[in-house]
Amino acid sequence: MGDLILFWHRRDLRLTDNLGLAAAVDRTAQVVGVFCLDPGILQEDDIAPARVAYMIGCLQELQQRYSKVGGQLLVLKGDPRQKIPALAQALQAAAVYWNRDVEPYSRQRDKAVVEALKEAGIEFQTTFWDQLLQPPGAVRTGAGEPYSVYTPFWRNWVKQPKSEPVPAPPTLEPLTSNQVQAAEQVGCMALPTAQDLGFGWDNGFPVEPGEWAAQQQLETFCEAERAIASYDQQRNFPFEDGTSRLSAALKFGAIGIRSVWSAADAVYQRCRSDESRQNVQTWQQELAWREFYQHVMYFFPELAAGPYRTQWKDFPWVNNQDDFQAWCDGRTGYPIVDAAMRQLNQTGWMHNRCRMIVASFLTKDLIINWQWGEKYFMQHLVDGDLSANNGGWQWSASSGMDPKPLRIFNPASQAKKFDPEAEYIRQWLPELRTLDTGWLVTGKIPPQERERVNYPAPIVDHKTQQAYFKDKYKAQKAAS
Ligand SMILES: Cc1cc2nc3c(=O)[nH]c(=O)nc-3n(C[C@H](O)[C@H](O)[C@H](O)COP(=O)(O)OP(=O)(O)OC[C@H]3O[C@@H](n4cnc5c(N)ncnc54)[C@H](O)[C@@H]3O)c2cc1C
Repeated sequence: MGDLILFWHRRDLRLTDNLGLAAAVDRTAQVVGVFCLDPGILQEDDIAPARVAYMIGCLQELQQRYSKVGGQLLVLKGDPRQKIPALAQALQAAAVYWNRDVEPYSRQRDKAVVEALKEAGIEFQTTFWDQLLQPPGAVRTGAGEPYSVYTPFWRNWVKQPKSEPVPAPPTLEPLTSNQVQAAEQVGCMALPTAQDLGFGWDNGFPVEPGEWAAQQQLETFCEAERAIASYDQQRNFPFEDGTSRLSAALKFGAIGIRSVWSAADAVYQRCRSDESRQNVQTWQQELAWREFYQHVMYFFPELAAGPYRTQWKDFPWVNNQDDFQAWCDGRTGYPIVDAAMRQLNQTGWMHNRCRMIVASFLTKDLIINWQWGEKYFMQHLVDGDLSANNGGWQWSASSGMDPKPLRIFNPASQAKKFDPEAEYIRQWLPELRTLDTGWLVTGKIPPQERERVNYPAPIVDHKTQQAYFKDKYKAQKAAS
């Protein structure tokens, strides 16, 4: 065995503020990075081209960053359970390091990699909770249980001390030519494009891929344009650029969560009024939602497979295929819903307020199983993340941990409140651009106008559907 440490990147595609990588570099400068393109993930039917393209973009930059500090990022394709131990053996690595994850698939996969490394007599270090400010279990209820309700989680979580970002490795030692050959023999290859992997995407990203762009975006949000200072008011208006757009970077770890927190905290510390503190804190609460959903996925992995509330397991969904297709295509006849779905289809991203509106519409107006929507989101979102997406859908469907479970959004009231001038609607539904604002917001477009611009009539009636849903909901509750 040599001194070399193999560092396995997964959802931490950066050098700066990477806990596991920093621990490896503390031990030796002979650290080589590896990323494994896992067909077990890439061949699933819930993969978004935008997400793969974003990930590949992050990997391209990561390779450049490695080479700038003298090191290398290797790329493998295949089952990590065999590939990672095989590469570690081929390089005669002293140890393999990686950051932990909360998702059921990752946890099972990592267990198998640990077993294979044990068998090969190779050390492993896998205790780093890099993607979270508090590891699962670090905050618990008074009774010592994991939280299943957000508000008490937040109150406890925010009081805990937060770690500072850790630095990037200053220099790394390159592999010898023998090591490079050995790596090639076990399948190390040039980084493919997203197109090579069958995921072409030309429509851009909310924030460009990679560490540099993510850091710039954080800087713009917190310091340059200071959207964080008006976040509490602006975050709900989908036509405003009022949110950070850091979700894809956080999903793939193009930015470290300690760096994000510390930038927000620096703004908080400089605030002079309760109002400005409130704006920053509202954003910090969103970061806490991200942590909450990851903690609950860790402790309740069954969430990934279905509803948290047992009475929802056999809810009588209508599941009309045509209605679902109309929702997917942004052709429901409800302008705010359709605008949001077109934003998703065209850009791979959707504003949070609209995610809530379309999720409520799918479940409470179309009476379609939220898991259909959950999957469709994963097939399109650049930031698609099991914990956040599942949490968002279960919240919207009233099947999750939300203590105020029956929420029904009225599309017209939502549009009136959050898109009063129909700016967002007009942006994503160009065929409606010339129509009267009142019609667009209420959705009450005269039939002859609809026909003229080839826009569908509402596929369901909101009032009727919400009454139907409430009945089913009550019956389901009573039966359980
Ligand atoms: C039905 C539904 C599905 C969703 N699916 C996803 C998903 O797959 N991936 C994802 O990252 N977010 C998801 N969200 C949460 C939220 O919509 C996005 O995180 C947010 O819109 C991303 O934009 P932003 O980066 O500008 O967020 P900001 O408002 O700037 O928030 C900062 C960060 O906090 C986190 N965050 C914000 N809101 C939430 C939330 N409600 N739950 C969890 N984390 C949050 C994200 O990491 C986000 O980047 C979903 C929400 C709903 C209602």
